[in-house]
Amino acid sequence: MSHFYFDTDNNQYKTFELPGAKPHYNPDRPGQVEHIFLDLSLDIPKQSLQGTCHITLTPICNGIDRLNLNAVNLDIASIKVDDVEQKFDYDGSEVSVKLNTQTQVNKRINMAIAYSVEKPQRGIYFIQPNEHYPHKPTQVWTQGEDEDSRFWFPCFDYPGQLSTSEIRVRIPKSLMAISNGELIGTESNGDDKIYHWSQQQVHPTYLMTLAVGDFAEIRDEWNGKPVTYYVEKGREKEARLSMGKTPRMMEFLSQKYGYGYAYPKYAQVCVDDFIFGGMENTSTTLLTDRCLLDAKAALDNRNTERLVVHELAHQWFGDLLVIKHWSHAWVKEGMATYSEVMWAEQEYGTDEAAYYRLQDARGYLSEDSDRYRRPMVTHIYREAIELYDSHIYEKGACVYHMLRAELGEELFWQAIQTFVQTHAHQSVETIDLLRAIETATGRNLNFLFDQYVYRGGHPDFKVAYSWDGDSNLAKVTVTQTQAKEGKTSSSNYLFDLKIPIAFGYTQSDEPPQLKTFTVRVHEKEQSFYFPLEEKPQFVSFDHGNHFLKTVALEYAIPELKAQLASAPDPLARIYAAEALGKKGGLEAIKALSTALTSEPFWGIRAEVAKQLAKIKLDQTFDALTPGLKDGDARVRRAVVEALATIKTNASYKALKPIVKSGDDSYYVEAAACRGVGEIAAVSTDKPKEEKVLKLLKTVLAEKAGWNEVVRSGAIGGLAALKTSEPALNVILEYTQLGVPQSLRLGAIRALGKISVGQTPTNLERILERLKELAKETFFLTQVAVVTALGQMETPKALGILQSLANQSTDGRVRRRAEEKIAKVQKNIGTDKTLRQLREELDQLKQENQKLQSRLESLEALSKKEGRSEGVKE
Ligand SMILES: [Zn+2]
Repeated sequence: MSHFYFDTDNNQYKTFELPGAKPHYNPDRPGQVEHIFLDLSLDIPKQSLQGTCHITLTPICNGIDRLNLNAVNLDIASIKVDDVEQKFDYDGSEVSVKLNTQTQVNKRINMAIAYSVEKPQRGIYFIQPNEHYPHKPTQVWTQGEDEDSRFWFPCFDYPGQLSTSEIRVRIPKSLMAISNGELIGTESNGDDKIYHWSQQQVHPTYLMTLAVGDFAEIRDEWNGKPVTYYVEKGREKEARLSMGKTPRMMEFLSQKYGYGYAYPKYAQVCVDDFIFGGMENTSTTLLTDRCLLDAKAALDNRNTERLVVHELAHQWFGDLLVIKHWSHAWVKEGMATYSEVMWAEQEYGTDEAAYYRLQDARGYLSEDSDRYRRPMVTHIYREAIELYDSHIYEKGACVYHMLRAELGEELFWQAIQTFVQTHAHQSVETIDLLRAIETATGRNLNFLFDQYVYRGGHPDFKVAYSWDGDSNLAKVTVTQTQAKEGKTSSSNYLFDLKIPIAFGYTQSDEPPQLKTFTVRVHEKEQSFYFPLEEKPQFVSFDHGNHFLKTVALEYAIPELKAQLASAPDPLARIYAAEALGKKGGLEAIKALSTALTSEPFWGIRAEVAKQLAKIKLDQTFDALTPGLKDGDARVRRAVVEALATIKTNASYKALKPIVKSGDDSYYVEAAACRGVGEIAAVSTDKPKEEKVLKLLKTVLAEKAGWNEVVRSGAIGGLAALKTSEPALNVILEYTQLGVPQSLRLGAIRALGKISVGQTPTNLERILERLKELAKETFFLTQVAVVTALGQMETPKALGILQSLANQSTDGRVRRRAEEKIAKVQKNIGTDKTLRQLREELDQLKQENQKLQSRLESLEALSKKEGRSEGVKE
């Protein structure tokens, strides 16, 4: 769903800072950590590890007699400094070492901490088969970011400290261990084997990693360096399909960043039950095994490719240049996300890249409108993990793109290369990026950072256009609808930007000619007049669409049609489609349906389908159906989703064959499954609910497969049948342990959607189930439970959410649970009578649509003659 248009009058943004948020700073540094050496032994059945953590530290000043290290719930047996036992205090989260001898500047200290930990809460995860999932692999893996390394070894756990590292680990002979850097030795010891890895380049504690499992190793290489993929045995082919572009990506990024890949190897390990998509541990990225594609998924799944290039980009932005404090995480996350755009450009062309960038912008915009607005750089939070949101990823990427647009291709890369070369193997803050830009290009881009980085928000533009034929004058009026009364930029939210406006002249068989002017937009409302020789056919505001913004075009239909058909910038074509969708009417349908079949770029065809769905006329159906035969699965998916919003028996009949006989794409099949449910739920001329139920149950029985995409679609379809008890019963069944995980998570989430139409007795059953599920500690289960509860409309959901907000060990779950509490309170406000009224209104609208559609047809007929809206005038 696109959240692109939202109510711009509503500037009541929720605040990012939850109660208890406070400023966070890096601690004072007693010295420079030079080296960390973990010498460990794992006991996997017991989910425990024990060993020694050696830390070499060079003191910065004399006379320090205490060292405080982060260490959560570890059993610390002893601490020695230079082989002499020291006293220490330990409160379960910090260990304070009382040094027998005070520090002397530059006189190195060798600390050895003997410790163990059993069933660690975080940081290191033990995966094993169990009674419900007997085929689960045996694996151990770590996740340090942001502040979880302290759960598996004592350390100065903040990114301002960079050191070399070494991990020596004893594990069962049947498994292998992968870690940062180079493998410098292995030895067998009875039933065990010891792996010894060493990382010679400095990095922070949160990037230290260990992954243990019975992996297949697939070898590739780049520039003589090993590039390896580790996956569960039997999935070798999927590994190649999913990660095989890595060496080419390494070449690409090395060139772009002006710095060759810095580490002796690059490994990617796909692990089970991973709690992120991927993690860029230095030279050893961990990925979720859900990213492994089969041939059918590879058809239209680009998420894996984007994940692979994202984590690889971090090997420079994040690992080689380490952010000094979490508040600057956008510097790395923004560039890693922008590198996905760059890779899309390299691999699939500029249209793809532009569209990719628009999706990023939308990701940020929906967070900004639905969750909160915040500056990209802030050190006020409860937990650092809260910062990992769409503001630093997607908006970060958009900011890097604006730098590129502002500086131009050549200077932008010079600036980035200067930044990387100057700060390789160091830590950085936002200011270092600004300074690198200035050093390399002479440009001071403070104005852009002030508007987009250090404060929240973006401009919301409304653009109106008119033509004065007597004086050959184009008038463009630009309104910043986000602006408020106020004399300073911090109170009026005005943006001050130089924006190009292109006037387009179409010509047959040739690309249109453009006349481009750049104007300074800095007031709430400004009108610009352009004397032109001829009337243009279209007006492309912010030509190239490089600025992060929303835009509503208030043009007449002929200009919108010409822009959709001819603007060279794909995003200008999309904005035109959006404006046509908003306008509605038969003319708009005609223009959009022409684009659906003739537009060369799939991204726009998909967007056009979405816009058609917004026009509530009967003619929309006929305009959409040719798109079901589109050669690109991503367009078919958008068309199926669009048809699902037309709640008629005809659209049910259009989607049913896809559910029954399938499609080349899993995602299209899944969308059709959801679609038939949605149609059956609210249609006036309904297909029988029992028929849909039967159809979806057949899918559940027969279509198990890759990541359970299709069966999750069927669950989604059932969830739409809100008043159906049989549908609820099926969903509940699939929340049982033993059901494949991704399907089970889908079923748990579906409990929220279906809950709003159920009887009080069934609502109780749902709540009981969610209460049970909330006790499971696995991160993804908790997120699914929170998502389900957030959709409910009963105060009884609040208690479960509150207990998750209080008790979950994951900061992301705690924050989400708290946000959902507010959401449910709002949901309760919309009481039953109101919903009933809304449903009746929907029915009326549908009946009205029939009349409206007939009226439009009649009007079109009567207008046919003498109409002039010609392209040439
Ligand atoms: Zn990242």
